[in-house]
Parts: sequence; C-alpha cells; structure tokens
Amino acid sequence: MEPRHSLLTVHAHPDDESLWTGGLLAREAAAGRATAVVTCTDGELADGSSAAARGTRTKEWTRALQVLGVTTSAMLPYRDSGRAGSGPGSLCAAPFDEVVAHLVAQIRTLRPTSVVTYDPAGVSGHLDHIRVHRATLAAIEAAAVPFLLPDAGPAWAASALWLVTVPTSLAQRAAAAGFQPENVPSTPDERVAASLDVRPWLDTKWVALQCHASEFARGASVSLLTDPALREAGLGTEHYLHRPGPGATVTRQAL
Ligand SMILES: [Zn+2]
Repeated sequence: MEPRHSLLTVHAHPDDESLWTGGLLAREAAAGRATAVVTCTDGELADGSSAAARGTRTKEWTRALQVLGVTTSAMLPYRDSGRAGSGPGSLCAAPFDEVVAHLVAQIRTLRPTSVVTYDPAGVSGHLDHIRVHRATLAAIEAAAVPFLLPDAGPAWAASALWLVTVPTSLAQRAAAAGFQPENVPSTPDERVAASLDVRPWLDTKWVALQCHASEFARGASVSLLTDPALREAGLGTEHYLHRPGPGATVTRQAL
C-alpha cells in the first residue's frame, strides 16, 4: 500500500496544530503534499467550564485547518483535561488503551509517511499533551502489527516520528525576557534533530492561529505574539526531535 499523507500531526487541543506545527503543515501544502491533523480533544470544559460557547473552538479549528491547507482531519471524542487532568469526559480520564485504539485506527486509515506529535514533556507540560505523546508512540507501534486491533484496518508502519520540542537556548531566552518561568520543559540543543525555518509561511501560520479567536479573547499566551518581532522569534522556527518509525529501513547494529 502507498502512503496517503506525507505527514500526520497528532495534537491535544484546537490551536495546537497552528501554534506548534503550523509552519510545517503550510510548507507541505505549498509543496502539493497531502497532510492530516488528528486533534484528541475539542478544547472544551477545561477546569470544568468553557470560556467560549459550545462548538466555538471546533469551528475555529476547522477554519485554521483550511488556512493551513490540511487535507484530512479528525477530532477524537474527548474534552480538555484542564490543569487537574481529570475533567468529565476528558482525555486524561479515558482508558489509555481506548485512546491508543482510536489513534491506531486513524494511522491505519490515513497512512502517513511521518507522524508528528509532542516531546515526552508535552512541549508545554500540559497533561493532555503528555498523554498525546504517550498514546501516539504506543499507537504508531501497534498500528504496524497486523495481530493487534485487526478490526482497525490493515497494518500501517510509519517511517518516521517527529516530536515538537523547545531547545534549551530558546527557553532560556524566553525566560530571560520574562515571557515564561525558568523551569519550563526544554531539550538540550544538541539533541534537537531539525530546526525548521518556517518564516516563508509565518504569515499563513499567524492567520491560522488567529482563527482561534476565543483563545485570544481569554488572554491565552498566544495573545503575546501580536508583536511582529516576538512573533518571528517565537513562531519563525519549529524544532523537532527525530525517532525512526516501525517502517524505517533498519541498519543492523551490534548490541
Ligand atoms: Zn494544547
């Protein structure tokens, strides 16, 4: 079977696709390649309530995906887990294997060459992001094994996994400038496999991010990025760790 998408990005909430991988998605669309986004929650009921009317965040997400030229998208049936990580119907409250099974079905249907999600700290440390990292890693491996979840479609082995991360040097600059505390998660610069210059697609990424108007309205951290210089510093480069996927060509090695 041939791949159906050059990449699948797996995210936690509406706005994460634009904030963390908007440049990469726009670059792929500009090159004529098919992309897919799976978002695991509808972003609602964080901490027991929603800042916007029901359905608002899903509509904003749909518009952002159009701006980024995303070919195929899906939203899993979970709510935002909030800071406590335990809201009703939330991603973190769901059985882990249930989330993995949803993602296995998506990977087998979408057949991506590469899968993109967050680093082990969930980039930002949000519990939903950490959950998405763990479930996606488990799903990539399980999706490649025909014996597992046979009703979820024919096995598919993605070739590569890319994990969004923040290099330590960038985290230190942001902390020194007062934009975030000093103890946020980061990755030593020498472990970052790819730092993608997405400035050619920065305007598209910004238009997509602004589709999430309810996040700006509630004063989420994205609101800081209205300053063009800060925007280029914060969004102009996307950083990724790399892991071979189960479909990668293996070079045998001594153990
Ligand atoms: Zn998020």
